[in-house]
This record gives sequence, structure tokens and C-alpha cells, in this order.
Amino acid sequence: MTLFDRVFGGNDYNYARTVAAIDEAIAANGEGCAVSFPSTAYNLPCYYGITGKKINTLGELKAALENDIKPMMTRNNRLQDAFDSGVASALCAEFLEVLKYLNGAEPYAEPEMGHLTDAFVRNLGVPLVTGDIPGVAVIIGGAEDPAETVALAKEYQAQGILVTLTGDAIKHCYEAGMKLGEGVRVVPLGYEMQSVIHVVSVAVRAALIFGNIQPGDYKALYKYTMDRVRAFVNAYKPLSDEIVSYGAGAICLGFPVISNETENMFRVPKSLIQQLDTTKWNATSLEARDIKLKITKIDIPVSFATAFEGEIIRRGDMQVEVDGSRVDCFELVQTKEAAEVEDHKITVIGPEIDEIPVGSKISLSYTVNVAGKAMQSDFESVMERKFHSWINCIEGVMHTGQRDMIRIRISKADFEAGFKFKHIGEVLYAKVKNEFEAVVDKCEVVIIVDAEKNKELRAAANEVFNKRDARLASMTDESVDTFYTCIMCQAFSPSHVCIVTPERLGLCGAVSWLDAKATKELDPAGPCQPIVKEGCQDEKLGRYDSMDAAVNKYSQGAVERITLYSLFQDPMTSCGCFECICGVEPVSMGVVITCREHAGMTPLGMSFSEMASMTGGGVQTPGFMGHGKHFISSKKFIAAEGGPGRIVWMPKMLKDQMRERLDATALEMYGVENFTDMIADETVCTEDPEELLNYLSEVGHPVLGFEPFDM
Ligand code: SF4
Ligand code: ZN
Repeated sequence: MTLFDRVFGGNDYNYARTVAAIDEAIAANGEGCAVSFPSTAYNLPCYYGITGKKINTLGELKAALENDIKPMMTRNNRLQDAFDSGVASALCAEFLEVLKYLNGAEPYAEPEMGHLTDAFVRNLGVPLVTGDIPGVAVIIGGAEDPAETVALAKEYQAQGILVTLTGDAIKHCYEAGMKLGEGVRVVPLGYEMQSVIHVVSVAVRAALIFGNIQPGDYKALYKYTMDRVRAFVNAYKPLSDEIVSYGAGAICLGFPVISNETENMFRVPKSLIQQLDTTKWNATSLEARDIKLKITKIDIPVSFATAFEGEIIRRGDMQVEVDGSRVDCFELVQTKEAAEVEDHKITVIGPEIDEIPVGSKISLSYTVNVAGKAMQSDFESVMERKFHSWINCIEGVMHTGQRDMIRIRISKADFEAGFKFKHIGEVLYAKVKNEFEAVVDKCEVVIIVDAEKNKELRAAANEVFNKRDARLASMTDESVDTFYTCIMCQAFSPSHVCIVTPERLGLCGAVSWLDAKATKELDPAGPCQPIVKEGCQDEKLGRYDSMDAAVNKYSQGAVERITLYSLFQDPMTSCGCFECICGVEPVSMGVVITCREHAGMTPLGMSFSEMASMTGGGVQTPGFMGHGKHFISSKKFIAAEGGPGRIVWMPKMLKDQMRERLDATALEMYGVENFTDMIADETVCTEDPEELLNYLSEVGHPVLGFEPFDM
């Protein structure tokens, strides 16, 4: 038997059981029964991406199987036939999996496995482009010795690689007590082999969301996944024909398969790699996919990796808690003279963690003193805001908040591993020196565990914060002469350019004007380049000759003109990783905003995923625009159309986050008190624009006095 026979055999097997499963589902539910994966705008993302067609019912699913998938299953022992059959097999897997979700079923509710949402894909945007997630490992099956599977998964996790598990790998990791889930970037897909389709679906949606690949243009799709999605497969023997056929599909998408199977296999350089020594899979895979790692070696007794950023430490698991809401705590960066800083000095004043009773809530502060010839005080806040993510990257440590409102939990497991407060200092030191090496020559950290001292120091720190806030508030688009580009997302959205201004941060929410300025300093030829404001054509729209020229240049001619402040006239493009999206609501002549965290409907009759699918991939879509959360309370938010007074609906959670600043902005711009309360949310209405309008009239929303949109 040849490898081709195995691919064809696996494909035949999948086809036959898909036919049977669909027939059974139709017998039980009828042909008109709706089919789609939940929380996605793409129904069956793989089928949609490859064929350009959307399936809505079981009847259509059956027709698609016969009319689209069957014809892919040619059997002429040619390489192309094997690839096509591999893809056909993968699509069968997608059909089999979607049947589990009929009638709102939750097949994988406990533990969380199966289909991954559009929000999951969008969340990957920034870490993928920054290299914080350098690749995606697809582990299929498990090693003979379970400890080996666990070691492999942990190895990838420590490198920041997103790991997905299918079959025995899940069992092995659970049994070893490993935490699994999106928060730690080791994601179980399902025990059945066909569940591997859920990671393929992520890759396909990345192409649709970020790459502006047109559904149905499968050649462009395969090229995108091959060039830009650094995924690879590690498949433990024995491989069934079913798995071999998925392997052919993976290779067609550009994902190499590394296996220790020897039965009826042959090697295809860079694509199908036999590696009998499974301890070498990590190195072999990274090499096959040309993955460069971005790691900082830090001398602490537990792991440090971006995979742990979303890890949650529960109350019962914590050794001590730093609690800024009850006691005096803060984090601060201060610029000092070189003579005042001793490089790599970490001081802990007060008791260490082993001198404190378990379960205590303590007062703790850390001040990072930096010195450097190119250091600017504007970079202090840029560094400080990174503390949150750095400290979260420590396995077993959770950090929330910022400045003097921080909360840090250190787990019992870390305590037992020998983790000390001084190790927080080690992390801060290593990361500051690593990420800010262009501006920081010397860095030292002072950690104080003493309520009395912290009370005094916190007051002083607050003075620093207040001064910084005053400077930020005084920084408007008019007060500076330079804006910045950001093209970080071009790794996935080749023609997307953000223009970042003091009053308009990047749509991912992660890049403010100060961040862009610092990035330029740290990486002079990097993604953020200054553009001097020149040739103002229209101040209200925010149209400048120099911005047009920059967008033109950095999008390689794909985008010719943009405005900074309009939703309709050449709006800024969206990549795909936007925190929020706004869209025009024609009945009230307002805009609806929703955010990634909100899965529910909006009065536009669309969820976040559906609205988001209207834009992205670096193209302009008048009437829809991705943006950062903080842009909502900016006076420049769709200023050309009247500003934030146009906002008529937002999820409640987003309203609560933005309330303070948005109310202040609205008071200043329109003289309206408590504006946020006038904005409807899901408790007022979800789908009906008439209900929305009634509410707006009732509360006297300012939009009712605005001119209609000039679309
Ligand atoms: Fe991507 Fe724009 Fe954020 Fe830069 S500012 S990382 S281009 S979304
Ligand atoms: Zn992006």
C-alpha cells in the first residue's frame, strides 16, 4: 500500500461516515434545520473559505457534500489528487463536527473543547504579529510514554507557541495535572481525530479576517496559510488512514507534518518529515517552519512565557495577594541620573514571601529606576504599562490593574518552587533591559513590603501619575506636529496601515502615540515611522497630503487616501485585531459600537463577529470601522460626523469601562451630563431599531438633534 492509498482510504472512510451522519441528522431534524458553528460569521469557515459558499441548512450540507466534496475525490495516484483528497477529508471533518452543534447544542461544554470562536482568532492578531506567539503546534495523538507528550506540549508553551491537542495528547496533559485552555495557550480540540479541523478553521479564518482573502479563492488561501500562518503538525504513531488524509490536507495548506510513523510513509522534504526521535520534534518543527523564537532568559524558579499571560490564580491556590484596593501598593518607573542607578541591583525592603503567613493580603510596591542617554520621561509610562503583561507571563502569578490599583496573586505552587518577591524584580529587570535596550543603559528595582513606607511613597507616586496625566490630557492632535504609522499588522494584513495620533490610538488598543514614538526610538527602521503633518486639506475630516502619501507608501499603493476622523469619507482601514467596531445605525442616524468580549447581538442585527466580517484585511469600508476602546471617549471619534455624541448603543460592559472619560468628553463637547446613561445597551434592546429609537427619545439623546449622515 502506498501513501496515496492511505490518503484515499482515509478520505473514503470520512466521506462515507459523513454521508451517513448527515442522512441521520436529516432524518431526525429535517432538511431545513439550520447549521452553523456558534460565534462565527463564517458558518462553516473551512468550507466557506475554500468554496466561497455559505451553507445554511442540513439540505444544503448534503448537497455540498455531493456537489463540491465528492468531485475533489479523484483517484489518479497523482500528488495533486492526494492533496485534494486531503482537503476533501478535512471538509468532511468540518461537516461531522458542525453536526454536533445542531439546535444550539453545546457538545464540548465541559471541559472547553471543539470549535474556536472568531473572537479567539482576532485575539491572536497582535501576539502573532509581534512574535509573542511565534507559531502554532498541532499535536495529534500521544507518545507511548505520556510524560513525553506532556514534555513536548510544555516545551512549545515555554516558547510562546500556541499548542492545540487532539486525541490522547489531551488525556496525557490532563492526567499530568497540566492546566489547559485559551488562557495558557494549550488548547484541547477534542478526543476524536476529526476535531483537528478546529485549528484548521482558525488558520482559514486568519486568512479571511486579516488577509482580505476572498472566500472561494482557494489558491490565494493556501498561499496565505503557507506564507503567514506558522503552523505545523506533530503526529504520534500509529497513524490511521484518517489521520494520514488530514496530513495531506495540512500539507496542502502549507503546514509540515512531523511524525514517527514508519508504516507506508515516505518523506517529502520540508512537508512530510519522519523523525523517529520524538525528543527532537520541537527543534525539527521550528526548523521546518522557519520559526524564530523571541525569548528572554530570566533567572527565576518557575517558567516565564507569554502562554501564561491569561492564567488565572484562584483564591484557594494563592500564597499571598498584593491588593491595591485595600492597602497601599503601586508600580512606578522613574528616570534617574546614571550615577544614581546600580545596574541589576534588586532590593527587597521588608519581609520576603517566606516570612509572611499564607493567605495574607499585603502592601507591596516596586519602583524601577532607569538611566540612559536616550531615555525620555515620556517612555516611563510606556514601560510601566508593560509590567502587567510581563508579570502575568510568570507561571503561577497573576497581575491585574496598573499604577496604584494593582492586584497580584502569587500561587502556592510558585511558593513551593522557591519563588520570592525578588524574582518579580528579576523579571522587571530582564524585560526592561531586553525590550528597551536602545534607551536604558542601567536599571535597578526596589521592592518594598512595608505598609507604613508604602503609604508615604504611594502619595509621592500619585503626584507623578497626576503630572503624567496632565501632560497626556494636554496632548492633542493639534499640539503635536508629527503622527506615526504603525504597520506591525502587515505580517497578516499586507496592506493595512494605522495612523496613530495623540487622540487616536491604534485600533488594537495596544499602541498609543507615545508607544509609537517609543517604538520609533527603540527600532528606528521599525513599524512606527513619523509623519509630519503637512498639506492640510480638511481639518474636520483630518485629511492631510502627508498622511495620504504615507498610507500610499506603506500600503504599497493599495490605499490612496485616508481621513483621520471620518467614518464615511475614506475611513482608516482595519486589519482584524480591532478591540471594537462601530457601524452606522440608519434609523437613529447614530452608530452602534460593540467589542470583542461581547458575544451577543446589536441593534444592527449583527454580532461582533458579523460586523467585524464586514471590514478588515486592510481595506476601507465606509460605514464600518475597527477602533481601540479608548478612541470612544476621544473628541476625535468620528469627529467629522459629529463625534461620540453619535454613539447610540454599546454593550453594558463597555459602557462601564468607558463611562468616566466618555461622560467628561460629552459634557465638554455637548454640555450633556451622564451621556453614557443615554446610550442604549443589551438590557434596553438587542435587535429592534424601533425600540432603540424609542429609548433615545425617552432619554433625550443628543443624536436626535444632529444632522443626518452625509454618507
Ligand atoms: Fe496593528 Fe495598528 Fe495595532 Fe499597529 S497600531 S499593532 S498596525 S492594529
Ligand atoms: Zn491588527
